Amino acid sequence: MKTHTTIQSLQSTIDSWRSQGQRIAFVPTMGGLHDGHLSLVDFAKQKADKIVVSVFVNPTQFGKNEDFDQYPNKLEQDIALLEQHQIDGLYSPSVEQIYPQGLDSDIKVSEVGDILCGASRPGHFDGVVQVVHRLFEIVKPSIAIFGQKDYQQLLLITQMATQYFPEIELLSQPTIREQDGLAMSTRNQYLSIDERKIVPRLYQVLLQAKQDYLDNALVEVLTNRAKNTLSEDFKVDYFEALDANTLKQITDNTSKIAILCSVYLGSTRLIDNIIFNKG
Ligand code: AMP
Repeated sequence: MKTHTTIQSLQSTIDSWRSQGQRIAFVPTMGGLHDGHLSLVDFAKQKADKIVVSVFVNPTQFGKNEDFDQYPNKLEQDIALLEQHQIDGLYSPSVEQIYPQGLDSDIKVSEVGDILCGASRPGHFDGVVQVVHRLFEIVKPSIAIFGQKDYQQLLLITQMATQYFPEIELLSQPTIREQDGLAMSTRNQYLSIDERKIVPRLYQVLLQAKQDYLDNALVEVLTNRAKNTLSEDFKVDYFEALDANTLKQITDNTSKIAILCSVYLGSTRLIDNIIFNKG
């Protein structure tokens, strides 16, 4: 595995693979890799000949008072994990490589970017879509793989890619969890020992809400019940049950449900979701 820090080096390697007819799968990340990221890498290996992973902490998706400066930087450890998983190329660029013209962007997300995480993190999804657009321009993969853990992000990237990169096949993979149900996240490192004991309750509440839905509870009733339970341990940012394809209200035409939530535990913001067929 070679680590590339410049576009030139990465592209000359990718061009040589492509000229040999090899298909390239791409997994963008912000590093601090865990088994969730690595499940995307392992899945990519089943789908393509060459796997490229990027590690880039994108400044444009962080708000002013967010954790950009303290976001875990574990490049050495990430490299060792990616070597073990036998990927072909790591792209670990500087901010200047990604944004030579500055941080402004013309690409704006649809109104789906204004709700849920977008309501609490204004501009966040514009930054996410900006960096993925830029990385797609550089890597030009055949396939790109994302996690359902960031479900709203997945929908917005899919919308962007449909418009600008219809030739790239987007695939997604389910959320990988710790044994106690906590969704793996680089930000879980921020949790104290006591917080780490409490935090699996989030997934329990999601499971209960899904069960309530399947037992025909009204959406308002099940979300209120969930928020009440969560508020014993967390500060609830949002908890919603929506149409998974549109992230709008569930209607008779809805085929898939997304129950999505965001909570704060101390200063750590956590997100999680469950996606299931309406049945
Ligand atoms: P991040 O490094 O947090 O930007 O995440 C990079 C990719 O890994 C995104 O597509 C995420 O949705 C995905 N991802 C993060 N956590 C998990 C997880 N627990 N299970 C599966 N995919 C994940």
